[in-house]
Amino acid sequence: MQKSIERIAGDSEGISYEFPVFRFKGQDEAAPSAYLQAALHAGELPGVIAIDVLMPMLVKAEAEGRIKGDITLVPQANPIGRAQYHFGEHQGRFHMGTRNNFNRGFPLLAAPDTKLLPETALDTADQRLKVRLLQLSLGHDIVLDLHCDDEGLAYLYVHTSLWPAMADCAAAMGVDAVVLWSEDTDGTFEGASIMPYQNVPADVARFGRRVVTTVEYRGILDVDGALAGSDAEGLYRLLAARGVVADTALPAPGPFTGTVAPLENIDMMPAPRAGAVLYDVKPGDRVAKGARLATIVHAPGEVGGRTEVFAPQAGLILTRRSRRIIRAGEDLLKLVGDRKSADARSGTLED
Ligand SMILES: [Zn+2]
Repeated sequence: MQKSIERIAGDSEGISYEFPVFRFKGQDEAAPSAYLQAALHAGELPGVIAIDVLMPMLVKAEAEGRIKGDITLVPQANPIGRAQYHFGEHQGRFHMGTRNNFNRGFPLLAAPDTKLLPETALDTADQRLKVRLLQLSLGHDIVLDLHCDDEGLAYLYVHTSLWPAMADCAAAMGVDAVVLWSEDTDGTFEGASIMPYQNVPADVARFGRRVVTTVEYRGILDVDGALAGSDAEGLYRLLAARGVVADTALPAPGPFTGTVAPLENIDMMPAPRAGAVLYDVKPGDRVAKGARLATIVHAPGEVGGRTEVFAPQAGLILTRRSRRIIRAGEDLLKLVGDRKSADARSGTLED
């Protein structure tokens, strides 16, 4: 394993950011390569500790000559967001200098060619970071971007061009659900990792062995040793199933038995009023159409001071908010419906 340090120039003299990159050299040039990064949203740590557990497993595999394909690991992909505190609260989702989401605004290239990446010398630091991360990842057959939700199940976002070819990966990782999407106009890292392959020759796109996904490792508070262990094993099983690591002791993953639904089936349930949220449901619950999902207490103690929110269709509760204060119009939860949402939002994944 080789460790190198990436440096991203800051927006003023004397400021720069660093993050380590770890590389394992594969022994078989025909084997698929893999790139894993975590904490692009810098406060989302379940993936960071999963990589912390995975790395010794890969070091052992390397010592035993079982690393077949090149592996690149970026355990903490966002040193800019990691350093952002505002009045004592960590702010890892948006760059405070530009208000841009760290997982939006990645360049959507026409082909997987780093020569097409934009020049960033005169750009902001967050944009320099994005271009560098994309440069590090481009060319790998397997690209995993490890995130987490607020409170939630373990689930994947997958582009429709990779499904069901990636069902073995979802099974290997042991996630609960897969959300399929087809259009990225915002430039997520996942979009920037798959859209360049949409209009290139089949021998370049190689959809049969390509893996690109945003992994949502449950909720922001699910930073837990046991979960990190099982998530690391899931990542390792994926690498073994796809031939990046050789491990004859592992059985091939079985069929994926979790929920699979298109993004259009997700109801986000915007809160009708501002106030305190009383949830009736939690991630993993199945609900019937018309079931009460939550009550917003917007005028405490007053007659009519509560507003209830009901399920517009039957489905699975995928996520909910970790805080109980809400503004009108903010999303209460993600309900994966059995059919298309009546107010389905077009566009990109909601990681
Ligand atoms: Zn995220």
